[in-house]
Amino acid sequence: MLQADKKICTDIDTEGCHGAASAPIYQTSLFTFNTFRDFTEAQKKERERYVYTRGVNPTVNLLEYKLAALERGEQCKCFGSGMGAVSSIFLSLLNSNDHVLFVNNIYGPTTELMEVLQNFNISCDYVSHDVKEIEASIQPNTKLIYAESPGTMLMKVVDLKKTAEIAKKHNITTVIDNTWSTPLFQKPLRLGFDLSLHSLTKYIGGHSDVIGGAVIGRADLVDRIFKYGFQLGGSVLSPHDAFLILRGLRTLPVRLGQHQANVLKIIDYLQTKKAVKQIYHPKLWQNPAIARQMLGYTGLISFELKDTSFETLTKFIDSLVLFKIGVSWGGFESLVTSPQKEGNEEQLKAAGLPSGLIRLSIGLEGDELQISDLEKAFSTIS
Ligand SMILES: *Cc1c(COP(=O)(O)O)cnc(C)c1O
Repeated sequence: MLQADKKICTDIDTEGCHGAASAPIYQTSLFTFNTFRDFTEAQKKERERYVYTRGVNPTVNLLEYKLAALERGEQCKCFGSGMGAVSSIFLSLLNSNDHVLFVNNIYGPTTELMEVLQNFNISCDYVSHDVKEIEASIQPNTKLIYAESPGTMLMKVVDLKKTAEIAKKHNITTVIDNTWSTPLFQKPLRLGFDLSLHSLTKYIGGHSDVIGGAVIGRADLVDRIFKYGFQLGGSVLSPHDAFLILRGLRTLPVRLGQHQANVLKIIDYLQTKKAVKQIYHPKLWQNPAIARQMLGYTGLISFELKDTSFETLTKFIDSLVLFKIGVSWGGFESLVTSPQKEGNEEQLKAAGLPSGLIRLSIGLEGDELQISDLEKAFSTIS
């Protein structure tokens, strides 16, 4: 959160910005000083003073201030990508011989990063979204419980309050990847989590034109992450990208409202399709934690085809026109992807994913257009 130089933009309508209605972009790598003494004083407090943009920058700071406020966190630090946030957390909070407990389906690159960390004697276990499994899997050296909820493939939901309670009992730091929900639809820090992280690339940026990440939470932990993972890891969010994300934030409530309205229509539609074996979205789960912790539903949804052959999957996906084939999600345009590749059924099974799984990012086009596109694709495989 912003403590820096109150003269410079603590919000966009302050004196220093001449009343600018949108955030000024401080496109500068460094900040200069009138006296050498002032410079040396600032260097002692790089978390609070503008010295160098691989530290704090006013435009990035403004975004951090807003994200911390939205998520009800003490502090926020932004990064050049979601993975920058993830790797900075690991680099700052873990030592050799520590153990990490991963809860629920975890984003692929995060698990790959963990494979690298195993070379430095950091171990891990993966458990499902079932809270009973979490407590049973805690080791004497478990340092972090790292959850995703909802997950971003099968959209399973973890009981966050119970997970945080278990972790506190064992003196373990808790982290959640909150990208699916955004700070608008889920506030894990209020449920006892220590840190919440986001890929700002998805709904928060919201226009598929920027990559960024953020960590929000306890001040002592964010300070530590700033000093080690951020400043030394170097995953810097550029001031211009921070501006784009600030612009995205302004429309986040209206965009999420529309993503939600659209996805609910798509769920109703998919429920009528005989070719669909199962739909994966938190709206459909009977998990009592959902009413306690989720304030809304975003538009990331998966479904499983009854016919799990790669040919059918390919035929379905290639028949879509409005839904573009691609990674990522959370932007204007509807997207489709699948974890299935020709002949990777065994790997899918090991990752706990069924064959025939299709993931849609329901965008902001009209739901009639989205449904008619899906309808055409279903007609090619029936
Ligand atoms: C995209 C994503 C990330 C990584 O974010 P990048 O901005 O692509 O580095 C992390 N977690 C989840 C759940 C994501 O979807």
